[in-house]
Amino acid sequence: MAIQWFPGHMTRARRQIQDKLKLIDIAIELLDARVPLSSRNPMVDDILQNKPRLIVLNKSDLADPKTTEKWMTYFAQEGHECVAVDSHTGTRVGDIPTKAKELLHEKISRQIAKGINPRAVRGLIVGIPNVGKSTLINRLAGRNIAATGDKPGVTKGQQWIKVGTEMELLDTPGILWPKFEDQLVGYRLAMTGAIREQILNVDDIAFFAVRELADRYWPALQERYDLVKPPSDPEDSEEIVRIMEDIGRKRGCLMGGGRVDLEKASGIILRDLRAGKLGRITLEAPYDDMPVRKL
Ligand code: GDP
Repeated sequence: MAIQWFPGHMTRARRQIQDKLKLIDIAIELLDARVPLSSRNPMVDDILQNKPRLIVLNKSDLADPKTTEKWMTYFAQEGHECVAVDSHTGTRVGDIPTKAKELLHEKISRQIAKGINPRAVRGLIVGIPNVGKSTLINRLAGRNIAATGDKPGVTKGQQWIKVGTEMELLDTPGILWPKFEDQLVGYRLAMTGAIREQILNVDDIAFFAVRELADRYWPALQERYDLVKPPSDPEDSEEIVRIMEDIGRKRGCLMGGGRVDLEKASGIILRDLRAGKLGRITLEAPYDDMPVRKL
């Protein structure tokens, strides 16, 4: 499942998307609403060139709604139309064909003026692994089309999937690689489940998660695990480990001698976080009210 993104794979992934750009009117860039920056491919502007683009913040059911609003404003200011959806249940997914048509409004009007009957808008979904591309395609199609899973090297015959009468999608999404240059990005993607745990250590991911949550979502953490007081200094690693141990004790993760099984506690924390048991959490906000922290 985990893709090794060697330079050759990146080149191939880029070429595959660029081949598909010739076939489409609009690219649908899928981001994870909880980590819109970290789930964004660093070269996406370059790869998509001047193709009209709709940004879709997926998994918005798991993200903090206020911050999602801020992201929508941010992307609008950057000149991109943006919608926030939940592909799992289909909430607001219907906005995608509507917005896509709006974005292509001028082109469609020109065709009509020339007496051409405009065909359905053709789109391609692009995004990093696990952002929800297959789930969204299936949701838009109203049936199971794309196999979930990522095979950046595999091509197959292209097919158009009808989304209502006014939109068509390529059945295979464009798979992009995530940002790697920053270790922080890796941990954020791991926290949300986009990067497999084999790559990063589960204790480290949970440590990072608890530190971020203690800083920004302490009430949620406190309530879920019945914790007593927030860390006095979130930069103090020992305090964070003490909170993890406390969570472990509360959840019965004990080894011989009353020691806390940190790995087990870490697994619980990450499962809860990913399943939304800690509430709706966003780890990145636009501008500087949620500054990027150093590890
Ligand atoms: P892909 O690799 O980009 O094709 O991602 P998938 O479609 O396989 O989705 C990855 C995981 O995210 C799956 O477990 C999906 O069920 C889940 N998922 C996708 N979209 C959503 C969403 O909007 N909300 C939630 N909660 N989960 C989602």
